Amino acid sequence: MEINRNKLTNIDTCGALRHRSILKALMLLSAIIYLQGCKNPPDEIASQEQEKEHPNITKLKAQSSEFTPEIIKLNESVYVAVGYDGSNASMIIGEEGVVIIDALRALGAAEKVAQEFNKISGKPVKALIYTHGHLDHTGGSSAFIRNSEDVTIIAREGFKDELQEHSPVEAILKKRNGRQFGRDLPVKDIINRGVAPGITSKDRAGEGYIKPNTLFKDSMKVELAGIDIELHAADGETNDELFVWTPELKTLFTGDNYYKSFPNLYAIRGSQYRDVKSWGESIQQMSTLPVEYLVPGHTRPLSGKAKVHRNLKNYATAILSVYQQTIDAMNKGYTLQQTVDHVRLPDSLINQPNLQEFYGSVPWGVRSVFLHYVGWFDGNPTNLYPLSSPQEAKHIIALAGGKKKLFEKLSTSVKDGDYQWGLQLADHLLQTDYETSRVITIKVKLLRSLAAQQINAPARNYYLSYAYELEKNEGQDILNK
Ligand SMILES: [Zn+2]
Repeated sequence: MEINRNKLTNIDTCGALRHRSILKALMLLSAIIYLQGCKNPPDEIASQEQEKEHPNITKLKAQSSEFTPEIIKLNESVYVAVGYDGSNASMIIGEEGVVIIDALRALGAAEKVAQEFNKISGKPVKALIYTHGHLDHTGGSSAFIRNSEDVTIIAREGFKDELQEHSPVEAILKKRNGRQFGRDLPVKDIINRGVAPGITSKDRAGEGYIKPNTLFKDSMKVELAGIDIELHAADGETNDELFVWTPELKTLFTGDNYYKSFPNLYAIRGSQYRDVKSWGESIQQMSTLPVEYLVPGHTRPLSGKAKVHRNLKNYATAILSVYQQTIDAMNKGYTLQQTVDHVRLPDSLINQPNLQEFYGSVPWGVRSVFLHYVGWFDGNPTNLYPLSSPQEAKHIIALAGGKKKLFEKLSTSVKDGDYQWGLQLADHLLQTDYETSRVITIKVKLLRSLAAQQINAPARNYYLSYAYELEKNEGQDILNK
């Protein structure tokens, strides 16, 4: 529009033209033709809107700088490998040898890090500590251990008990895991996984795992390679989580209870309950230590006593606030959805850089706490025996004036920006046989529109992965008709 107006002005100021009135008529006509041409179909407008990058996507992209591969020298004795795989591996150099904390996932990636560590110190590996049992911290162990003998490998009791492969619903957990991490997404759609790069090494993933040979229950003080080390049980992201404190080096290894993102209090891939209260308390406990250097399980380490303390403090406050607000709302008799609608991060924390929802999401944490304490029934008797999905769809469709009317409303939801409402309408229609393939096409658009404004990487990956699955006409097992 701006260009057209300029053109008109330029012609209008041309004093050499005599037939001014004819010219004006022509200009008006050409302006009308131009404006007609501007009336793009709604789909085009929607796709133009999608092309303009949402600020949340810009922020999520910026988070990728946390995963630039680098061996970071944190102090004279501690080195941290970031960005070589999905998580961090660290080396502490002692008088008599080195201690490794966490071992990455892919043996290939771990071998590269072990080589780099070996260039820094050729001392033998005396101990390996697993902060928890997730494969992204345990799969590359043999690269670090190599031929060393008598290596103490430490973890908590109950190590790896809760893993997906021990679950009777492993099949669906695996599928959801793939969606959460965007494992099958085309490269053009990948940004990152919130606290890990978008693509990680597939070079012998998990093949280097070695079982721990030393387990402890609550806490343990031990001297390893001449270094005094404290280990503390800290239920949080997992129920086998621990943190490592080295008093002399003033260095704290938090495992996955801390990283630069709002914590993943609930994983949408599906997992056992993550003890939110204990998680917050573990960070509170860490914040009482005189920490100078903090090494998270993912994202880059932090230095400086005041900075570390501030970050730990606001992390603990955020978790415990979400927990307590949920408990209070539940005790007031709020339903699940009312509780979700009610709980917010305190205003003072919303803009903290380490609490952006790149990986975890406040509403998901709230749902998790709610269900943990009372199970599926939210207290509202309407939900004791709700209508089946097809029955509910039948009533909603009738109320809307029929399938055609509902479809029309659904069709405008993309351009109206009512993406979530559109998804809910689409799901009602998918309970019937009405225009299934067109409904799926719109549902795919809605999922992509939601993904295009998501700061949360698991949600974004899930929307996009599911959209591709629908498109590939795997619809039948997804739609559960
Ligand atoms: Zn991890």
